[in-house]
Amino acid sequence: MAFKTKKEILEDILLHDKPKCPYCGKEMSLWEVPPIPVGEGLGWGTPYLFICFNDECSLYVKGWATMEEDYGHTCSFRCLNYPGTRQFEIMPVFSATGGKGQIIDNQVLAKQKALKEAIKKGLSILENCHVSKDWRTVLKMLLDANEPLRVRIQAAEIIGDIGELDVIEPLRNQKFGYKLLIKKVEDAIKKIHKRHFTRECPFCAEIIKKRAKICRYCGKKVIESATQS
Ligand SMILES: [Zn+2]
Ligand SMILES: [Zn+2]
Repeated sequence: MAFKTKKEILEDILLHDKPKCPYCGKEMSLWEVPPIPVGEGLGWGTPYLFICFNDECSLYVKGWATMEEDYGHTCSFRCLNYPGTRQFEIMPVFSATGGKGQIIDNQVLAKQKALKEAIKKGLSILENCHVSKDWRTVLKMLLDANEPLRVRIQAAEIIGDIGELDVIEPLRNQKFGYKLLIKKVEDAIKKIHKRHFTRECPFCAEIIKKRAKICRYCGKKVIESATQS
């Protein structure tokens, strides 16, 4: 499993629809998990959860009465969901406003809008680069972690078509994080080698001719790989 930053996790979540609460059917709110002070357990294991903040939700309404009558506790429950899963759980709340400070829907909407615009802009730049064979700009966008994932994936596809051998080293030295993006970059490198009749020496990683029997950099014997593509 590749490590994902909080920003990347949020980007993933934004690509999908919000889940509906199984108790009331209302759309759940995206919720930022508050930082857990050291020594208070393991936390939720995710930076974001979906929570039903509907005050008419049956789970929430019944919770107050049940907890008061049965246990003498003034608390209730809200339904929570782990993003990207069908896993629903409940969490205790101690007031009607409990946890609402962490709702990030408004911010998310703004981010979603910004993300859509960034994707549109990025794809349009890439289209022009593809036509003009400007692989330097494509490489820059592919390496830029601030570009949306969609744009970076498109950049990886284009660079396979127009990239020179110079792009291989920077691509090899970058950690891409996303499985899909790693795969696309891998495919792009293969395509670039194919177009240039080259490959990388398995010992020193320098770029050598596909037909070479001895690496001209490290002098080691390299098995000819006519089938490598
Ligand atoms: Zn609900
Ligand atoms: Zn070598």
